[in-house]
Amino acid sequence: MTAAEMIITNAKVLTMDEGRPRSEALAFGGGRILAVGGRAEVEALAGPGCRVVDAGGRTLLPGFVESHLHLVLGGNELAQLQLGGVQGFEELARLFRAYAAKNPTLPLLMAQGAAYELLEHPVTRADLDRVIADRPIAMMAPDHHTVWANTAALRAAGLLQGAEMPPGHVVVMGADGMATGELLEFEAFSPVLALTGDLHLQLGIATGGEPDPWPDAAQRAKDKEKVAAGLAHCAMHGITSMVNMDGNRYTCVLLKEMEAEGRLTARVKVPFHFKPHMDLSDLDRASAMAAEFTGDWVTSGFVKMFMDGVVDSRTAYMLHPYPGTTETGAPLFEAERFKDVCREISRRDLQIAVHAIGDGAVRQTIDGYEAAGRPDLRHRIEHIELIDRADVPRLGALGITASVQPPHPPGAMDFPMSTMDHVFHRERWRDAYLTKTLADHGAHLAFASDWPVTDVSVMRGIQAALTRVPYEGCQDERVGLMEVLRAYTAGGAWAAHREGLTGTLRAGMAADLVLIDGDIEAIPAERLGKTGIALTIAGGRVTHDPEGMAGGPA
Ligand SMILES: [Zn+2]
Repeated sequence: MTAAEMIITNAKVLTMDEGRPRSEALAFGGGRILAVGGRAEVEALAGPGCRVVDAGGRTLLPGFVESHLHLVLGGNELAQLQLGGVQGFEELARLFRAYAAKNPTLPLLMAQGAAYELLEHPVTRADLDRVIADRPIAMMAPDHHTVWANTAALRAAGLLQGAEMPPGHVVVMGADGMATGELLEFEAFSPVLALTGDLHLQLGIATGGEPDPWPDAAQRAKDKEKVAAGLAHCAMHGITSMVNMDGNRYTCVLLKEMEAEGRLTARVKVPFHFKPHMDLSDLDRASAMAAEFTGDWVTSGFVKMFMDGVVDSRTAYMLHPYPGTTETGAPLFEAERFKDVCREISRRDLQIAVHAIGDGAVRQTIDGYEAAGRPDLRHRIEHIELIDRADVPRLGALGITASVQPPHPPGAMDFPMSTMDHVFHRERWRDAYLTKTLADHGAHLAFASDWPVTDVSVMRGIQAALTRVPYEGCQDERVGLMEVLRAYTAGGAWAAHREGLTGTLRAGMAADLVLIDGDIEAIPAERLGKTGIALTIAGGRVTHDPEGMAGGPA
């Protein structure tokens, strides 16, 4: 038997394993869990060289599974100007000018997290010209579906006079025949992002294509630094597995190189991104990625698609017009074509994950999965911000995972309640951002942040899930603590086809662990977001250890 390298004892072990939900101690060695059980029984496994960590009653959980994030984009953005929580012109101008002074040579000053209501009126290039006129500047909305750019940035990107765009992607034009500065959806703002010189990192979300020319070793080293920053940020939050929701082969190659260099601190699943204009034969690339990347750390095996946009820019596809308009938004795939795509992906034994936010997009996605008839593949829907009541039971019946984000409902964490008034009819609030209702009707749950769309902190996500106040007159959509923890661990692992590897604590599973800095069942829900992570261990390797409990990170 493998010798125990580390024993974590005197812990409140919540295993997420129904056979033995609670324990006191855990031993691991060779990257695998060797034993989970009572203190005496597990401590007896300590041999020479085994480190014994007294957890002091803290909660030990399976390492968190982040079911929907964008690792490369998040890592890349960590160095950009952060505008989360910023309100009003004065603060915006002050922060941007300070960032500009600190970064005198950047070709584009890029900011993240700009609220749609940052100014009292819709933001225009004229507003941003008043911030900085002589250098290109731009800022991204938290949902990553809208960018605002100043005149210099629009000019440099060739967008000032407008540009031809595919459906759903819009360079908003003003009465003067010039771009207003508002750019809706990726194709519209990618020419601005290209000014940063790292647009090739955006290909996984933008086109699903590969960088051309293929980045040389020096460029890859730079890119890996950004990924490493993202991984370190995730390890700090207890994450040991993640499902990346954009991708291409290049993303996998970077991660594989990092694995070989001993720098990969989480298991990452990367999709092939299928775009509406692609041919079914382009799915050969998805099959090739699935075959090439099959290890315990870097895998593919699924296809990501977008059925619609987002609510704030009204690009989400609704069954009924948005309040006060005749617009419903439009699906990005035609219904019958989407069914064909789902059948073809399923025929290749690949999983599907579709971004669907409006109730129209959700229905059309379910229809596609139903046509494919392959519940064993565990096709999943990302977001589901509005759903028609008739579709609720279909998720459970068809084995579809509801991949939802507790930080996203307006009012639950960082997003303002104003979205509810602007986007959803009052009588539909009861169908918005459902969680418990979906679970009660048999849907599998997987929780996530969609980082960098919201803070990647799982503890904040848990707090949001447990403290969310029902919308006025609507049912309570909270699930209990154990269900929340399951959706951040075992539920996510199942949804990623990784339940044989991670997500529960039992002998033989990977030593993917997170030690919460306290007793998670005793901490009031409204304080969980401020509760730290005492220890993160991925595959038996310490990836976060702020207090040196386990002798510091490996
Ligand atoms: Zn996403």
